Amino acid sequence: MAALIGSRIYDDAIYATDEPVPSLWEATAGPPPADDGPLVGESETEVAVIGGGIAGLSLVWHLTRRHGIAATALDAAKIGWGASGRNGGFVSMGYTKRSLDDLTATYGAEDARTVFEAQKAACAYVIDVARSENLDVDLSGRGEFIVAHKPDRLKGLAAKSSAMRSLFGEDWPVISKDELRARGYAGPEAHGAIYVPHGTGLHPLKYTYGLLQLARSHGGKVHPQSAVVHWERDGAGAHVLHIQGGGRLKAKTVVVATNGFTTEGLDGRFDGVTLPALSNILVTRPLSEAERQAQGYTTDVPVADSRNLLFYIRLLKDGRLLFGGRGGTSATKTAGERYWAYMHKRLQEVFPAWKDVEISHRWRGFVCLTADLVGRVGLFPQDRSTGFLFGCHGSGVAMSGYAAKFLASEIAGAGFNEPFPMCFRRPPVRFPVPSLRVPALAAAYAWYRIKDEILPA
Ligand SMILES: Cc1cc2nc3c(=O)[nH]c(=O)nc-3n(C[C@H](O)[C@H](O)[C@H](O)COP(=O)(O)OP(=O)(O)OC[C@H]3O[C@@H](n4cnc5c(N)ncnc54)[C@H](O)[C@@H]3O)c2cc1C
Repeated sequence: MAALIGSRIYDDAIYATDEPVPSLWEATAGPPPADDGPLVGESETEVAVIGGGIAGLSLVWHLTRRHGIAATALDAAKIGWGASGRNGGFVSMGYTKRSLDDLTATYGAEDARTVFEAQKAACAYVIDVARSENLDVDLSGRGEFIVAHKPDRLKGLAAKSSAMRSLFGEDWPVISKDELRARGYAGPEAHGAIYVPHGTGLHPLKYTYGLLQLARSHGGKVHPQSAVVHWERDGAGAHVLHIQGGGRLKAKTVVVATNGFTTEGLDGRFDGVTLPALSNILVTRPLSEAERQAQGYTTDVPVADSRNLLFYIRLLKDGRLLFGGRGGTSATKTAGERYWAYMHKRLQEVFPAWKDVEISHRWRGFVCLTADLVGRVGLFPQDRSTGFLFGCHGSGVAMSGYAAKFLASEIAGAGFNEPFPMCFRRPPVRFPVPSLRVPALAAAYAWYRIKDEILPA
């Protein structure tokens, strides 16, 4: 097993960077574009980025293209091995788990509004990058349905819709159960919805591969199989990253963009500040038109339900069902098997017409939570040569690239005239008792399940 060196809070199985991810995306993305190979020997760059996912690759692209700053991304695995190549492909509003009310109470109405504006801008950004850079990423479905999984959940969704109108003048229409069926989504756990008019679906590994090409298009370097195992400063204050296998990279600035796969033990400021959480996906074989009609599910609009521990659901271009859900706090292979079995049972309940349809692919990986459930993007105020770019909270496909654009401007000392909230820019904070992160998550999940499945709204 190739190692991600440093202390880790889950079983080694999930950190096996040399094991291919058995995802549908790996099977259908086509050959990866060229990269710069593992970093060997001594090398130098202006900005070194640890992590070569959507965040790291986008940062290298923006630094080199927009600001003419030499940048190098290092990844412990092949490009696309992390969450970026194995997610559900929802381009959606994220990077925090906190509600707008909660953000308003903590950071004020203006910054809460900026979170919302940045989330919208991030969704538009991905669609714009895909179109303007001619990335073939299988964009499909506009917006997103948030579906009431129980009849009494529609009221809460309707309240959200009203808040969107009164606070932001946005139309997030409430859709009755019958109308939702007419729009192509039906089942025993579909009791109406609201429609979010932002975002889309895409093929995440094709998007990541597209970003790999963009990252290298203006002289940026991308080194896979280059795990950073030691981080120090030289006599002149420059950062020196030691790579597994003996390579060394010297840089003026280092940015940590490792999200749920963050390696602890490299620099104390990044220890105990992230909580990786497992997200799990099942994909079926392609469903025929008749099978889709039989379930009453025919829309390509991405779907999430109203649970705290939500299911995220897409009908893909070739008719396959993608059924995803966060959960499980053990990353052993056996625990993975158990969790997929549970997910399959739930899939059969949510889509009874497809209970005998075979599953063709299943995989899992890490999203990243922070101690206050808000993502982190910026430079340490006391040390502007070190940056952070992580904390997707389950939805980072859109924000990771947009946030990288912001961070590139920060590093360059240039202005950023698009919305970017102050609450995202704060340095990461440590969990109160880092060693209890996983048990605390298990307790939170147990409570969410009670709220989602037993308690009334
Ligand atoms: C199953 C699943 C489903 C998801 N679904 C969605 C979705 O539908 N929509 C959405 O918006 N988001 C989704 N997400 C989250 C989304 O994938 C992430 O927010 C996004 O990919 C984060 O990108 P990243 O570049 O920050 O991190 P990653 O893509 O995880 O990249 C981090 C990289 O850091 C590398 N690394 C770690 N330590 C080191 C080291 N010491 N040296 C070198 N490299 C190192 C790792 O190898 C890894 O490749 C999902 C995630 C998962 C796991």
